[in-house]
Amino acid sequence: MKTNPPSPGTTGRTFFVADLHLTDERPVATGRFFRFLQQDVAGADALYILGDLFDAWVGDDHDAQVAHDAARQIKSLVDAGTPVYFMHGNRDFMLAARYAAQSGMTLLADPTRIDLYGTPTLLMHGDTLCTDDTAYQTFRRRVRHPLTLALLRRLPLALRHRLARRARAGSESAKAGKAAEIMDVNADAVAQVLRAQQVSRLIHGHTHRPAQHRHAVDGQNCERWVVPDWYARWGYVACDATGCVLRIEDL
Ligand code: MN
Repeated sequence: MKTNPPSPGTTGRTFFVADLHLTDERPVATGRFFRFLQQDVAGADALYILGDLFDAWVGDDHDAQVAHDAARQIKSLVDAGTPVYFMHGNRDFMLAARYAAQSGMTLLADPTRIDLYGTPTLLMHGDTLCTDDTAYQTFRRRVRHPLTLALLRRLPLALRHRLARRARAGSESAKAGKAAEIMDVNADAVAQVLRAQQVSRLIHGHTHRPAQHRHAVDGQNCERWVVPDWYARWGYVACDATGCVLRIEDL
């Protein structure tokens, strides 16, 4: 619920970001994100974070400085009347209710279907669309299983840090041996989800290949927006009643 009256010029827009991979080791991206919240998002209708806000998340007792700072920044945006929604990515899938409460974020399931100014729009992180990467999909099913999650949450913090480091190293070496197409979304998976959810617009991240794509699904024109990562660049997809735009800037 909005507590403040909307200020002219900034309302009527909704922002989408993903793959910021915030970590204490990349303060430039963190600073850029906080300025983005204050200068671009303040006063907007909503901000959706579509996963991988953090480079790693070992639990809501995550002890990185960026976790504390981001909670404060996001909370003040929410308190000023702009709701912030968070969907898990493959890096921060352990983020849970405690941090959501601290930061004022509302957790979303992946996928989530929203009515975006009259256009049914599907939001995803994007990793489940990369169906050609069967090894990753198997790993994802295992690690995201409720029993695995429950077990992981009970492990001591230091051990969770160690497991997260090992998982990241494993993912880096696996990526090095995979063809680029395998790590992109599968066109049939995209068509299938658009059809099943009866939407003509999809917004997702994960692939680090920002773009606007057009797909014809059963004769209907659909659009797929891929939001940028925040490494050498930063940016977002912003939508209003007239449509969406993709903005990419140098970091
Ligand atoms: Mn990802």
